[in-house]
Amino acid sequence: MLKVERFDEYLDQLFDVIKEYQRDISVGRVVPKASRHDMEKLLFEDVPMQGSDAAHIIDEFREKVVPNSTKVGSSRFLSWIITSPSQAGILGEIANIGISQAPFNFKAGPAATVIEEMVIGWMGQLFGYSKKSGGILVSGGSVSTLTALGAAREAFLPGSTQNGIQNVSKPLTLYTSKKAHSSIDKAVGVLGFGKNMLRKVNVDEFFKIDINSLEKDIKNDIKQGLKPFCIIAQAGTSLSGAVDDIDALSNVAKKYGMWLHVDGAYGGGAILSKRGREILNGIEKADSISVDPHKWFFVPTEAGCVLVKDKRHLYNAYRTGIAEFDDNAPINYLDYGIQSTRTSRAIKTWFAIKTYGIKKLSQVVDSNIEMASYFAKEIENIDGVRLLHKPQTSAVCFAFDEGLIRNEAFLMEIEEEFFLSPANLMGEHCVRACFSNYRTSIEEVDLLLSKIKSFVEMELK
Ligand SMILES: *Cc1c(COP(=O)(O)O)cnc(C)c1O
Repeated sequence: MLKVERFDEYLDQLFDVIKEYQRDISVGRVVPKASRHDMEKLLFEDVPMQGSDAAHIIDEFREKVVPNSTKVGSSRFLSWIITSPSQAGILGEIANIGISQAPFNFKAGPAATVIEEMVIGWMGQLFGYSKKSGGILVSGGSVSTLTALGAAREAFLPGSTQNGIQNVSKPLTLYTSKKAHSSIDKAVGVLGFGKNMLRKVNVDEFFKIDINSLEKDIKNDIKQGLKPFCIIAQAGTSLSGAVDDIDALSNVAKKYGMWLHVDGAYGGGAILSKRGREILNGIEKADSISVDPHKWFFVPTEAGCVLVKDKRHLYNAYRTGIAEFDDNAPINYLDYGIQSTRTSRAIKTWFAIKTYGIKKLSQVVDSNIEMASYFAKEIENIDGVRLLHKPQTSAVCFAFDEGLIRNEAFLMEIEEEFFLSPANLMGEHCVRACFSNYRTSIEEVDLLLSKIKSFVEMELK
């Protein structure tokens, strides 16, 4: 009943649309001009009771959806950290959809299950974890951190997954940077710790957690009869790409018997580069790590990865049966995370990593980091704009002297050619450029710089 007439032909027709889109990915505006109202007018219709030919839907997709989609893959997309999906990643995702596995257990995807184990192993190895480590691929950094903190909760309060945390004698406190991603608040809320128990620790001039302030906060909480439980380090804040001193944080965690989680959703990808590995120094000491293949590994959305130094903690928090953890028992992902029916995020990640090899990916991440420092250095030489921080990874925030109005005007001025985002860094409105894009050329960076110069000069006239 649900067979379409000419499936093979439709596949060809659809692939032609994708080919066309991918060929011209860097041509034209990055964000379509359409307003929400335009979109509703174009697309809203009553629920169809009768079907129609898939060929028509493909035409409609090509005419209405494709031109009104944001070109995340464009070389001039320098906005949030949605990286341009790599071509091998796209092939891998198409391959994945084609066989649509649901590897919650082995039989629901034998190859997909084993590939996931392997990919998790590769990731663990990159971060310096041992064979004791494990993990699972999830939708992204938000669910990755939620999953990790769930494991931490059970490790810290054995039985709490079963009994809840309502009866603890000392309420638990968590610590993260003032610049931490909103997903940390969400995870802390969902897991029942309460957002009020998440301390947003002061940062230093580089927007990294100030270690003295952290210890002060911890001691203060202990004095109040609370129980410091977890530090969540930022390895690449989404705004300025700041990486906390993970090694120092691991010492604090050890001193107070706390769990250390590293939110490397974005900056974890820096592990691929030599410079990045120095910045992430000490990450192998973390109890758990979030890293998004759909960010700096250039895999199409969605793909997040949670790694736990000792995989038993993940199992203990998410097991569905009563069996105790057994390191020799085969892994069924149903027992290692939140989802049951789930897509394989491993197949596309495997496809991309195999196609490029770590070496090529490393080169791209290295050149992204270099591009960000080049851009920042040039910004410092332009009168009328200010660099707000020295870039550590690939994000650079800068502001025009007159602030908000000029920043916004600039973004409007360049929107036909470049897509950057407005941001707010420590109460200061700014423009944020993120160079996590393998397509962006140095000529385009120079073009952007020249736009900034002429924008400033225009004002002076
Ligand atoms: C993107 C990001 C997240 C959230 O990850 P998603 O994949 O968007 O769910 C968390 N933390 C940081 C630092 C991020 O950059």
